[in-house]
Amino acid sequence: MNYAIQRDRMVRRLQSRGITDPRVLDAMRGVARHRFVEEALQGKAYDDDVALPIGDQQTISQPWIVARMTELLEPDGGGRALEIGSGSGYQAAVLSRLYHQVYSVERIPEFSRRALRIIRALGIENAHFKIFDGGYGWSEFAPYRGILVTAAAPELPAPLLEQLADGGRLVLPLASRDDPDDQVLARVTRRGDGVERETFGACKFVPLLGRFGWPT
Ligand code: SAH
Repeated sequence: MNYAIQRDRMVRRLQSRGITDPRVLDAMRGVARHRFVEEALQGKAYDDDVALPIGDQQTISQPWIVARMTELLEPDGGGRALEIGSGSGYQAAVLSRLYHQVYSVERIPEFSRRALRIIRALGIENAHFKIFDGGYGWSEFAPYRGILVTAAAPELPAPLLEQLADGGRLVLPLASRDDPDDQVLARVTRRGDGVERETFGACKFVPLLGRFGWPT
């Protein structure tokens, strides 16, 4: 079963819920999301507002928020992207269709290894994984045209801003330090030495842990 019909339906629902970028919709149509969840949950993989468990209290984000964050990056068909929080690897797979190279950092070794295994099994060669505290980014391949953080941070981790290209966009859930569940989706665009900040409504992500997040 390759779930192509379910994927088409998912994309139509994403469109009806306001996702408009055709490149993003194509990328969502192109990635076999069910491969990133365990077999018993594969039937639910294309429900657009369900976050699915991937173990260790972590989840693969619902398709709508994956599409929304990706759209806010405004990918223009090239360059390098950085993702913080590889999780299942699904978001990295979506990004791999929109950027030349994708670099993804995850703190839980088993997640990173599983993401790599699934991604390579799908024939994706331009997504790369590292096990580390993602708040530090991945300086070796900076600057990035797009940076996506898929765990909520109490503030923008400084290394990520340093690794953002001029004109590049960084999308992240920002949380209140007192209440990690009080979150807003934010976008930071670098303009020379300055930055432009925008917000896009409430969201719900697991907390970013480590040096630039909450204590582990
Ligand atoms: N993008 C993922 C979903 C991520 S869930 C997907 O497509 O499936 C958030 C992930 O962020 C979890 O896997 C969690 O372990 C990871 N995470 C939390 N804090 C982190 C940190 N400081 N560095 C790297 N990864 C982190």
